[in-house]
Amino acid sequence: MTFGPGAIAGVPTSSAGGRVEFLLARNAVVRDFHKGRLSRLDVCDAHPELLRAARNLGRSTGEPCPICERVDLVYVTFVFGTRLPSGGRCVSTQAELDRYWKRKDPVACFVVEVCTECSWNHLDRMYPAGAGVPVERRSLHRDRVRSGRDR
Ligand SMILES: [Zn+2]
Repeated sequence: MTFGPGAIAGVPTSSAGGRVEFLLARNAVVRDFHKGRLSRLDVCDAHPELLRAARNLGRSTGEPCPICERVDLVYVTFVFGTRLPSGGRCVSTQAELDRYWKRKDPVACFVVEVCTECSWNHLDRMYPAGAGVPVERRSLHRDRVRSGRDR
């Protein structure tokens, strides 16, 4: 299996869905795991490309993995679009991300949380960029507020 948006857990099949939906989907998976409805094999299935990117370019979220609770999760940002590799490109710096915003071609940015210890992975958010999408200052480092999450 080549790496692409479909290799990321939590990518919605419809284009609708904002961050709240992603968060709800993620929390449902975590809850089912802790209730024993899902096994580690079901939820800890990060693609090797994703794991490699997470080890080399991941940015710590400061939040422990909800599955193994042994290490902090990291964020990896991938950009997919025309004239980019089919496996997307992993963004490593804010300056690089800014360049995608200035592109004439549309791109889709996927921010994925990954555990390099147990291979848990889930889409945190996705958003369009480039092609005239108004530039928003989005930091790769983001304060995450997760009200009401299960412990
Ligand atoms: Zn983990």
